[in-house]
Amino acid sequence: MSEEPELPPLPAIGDILDRKDRFIQKVYSVIKCRNCQKKYTREFKKGDFTFKELEDEKCLECQKSGNSVITEVYSEWIDPRKQK
Ligand SMILES: [Zn+2]
Repeated sequence: MSEEPELPPLPAIGDILDRKDRFIQKVYSVIKCRNCQKKYTREFKKGDFTFKELEDEKCLECQKSGNSVITEVYSEWIDPRKQK
């Protein structure tokens, strides 16, 4: 007997692929300003990474530049069909 067991379909993987097709990934960076100690989130820019020093970036809170660091980079999936 060398009969291959019949594998069940994998709907979970199909769902994930469909999700990737349909959803838009948005990436954000969390910035901390050492000047005013505030944190804020802005859209990810090319070259961003955690703990990167942002020497040319203005703080959204106190408008001073050169004292900010990225504390976190995160992403979320947005369903374009739910946005109007
Ligand atoms: Zn600031």
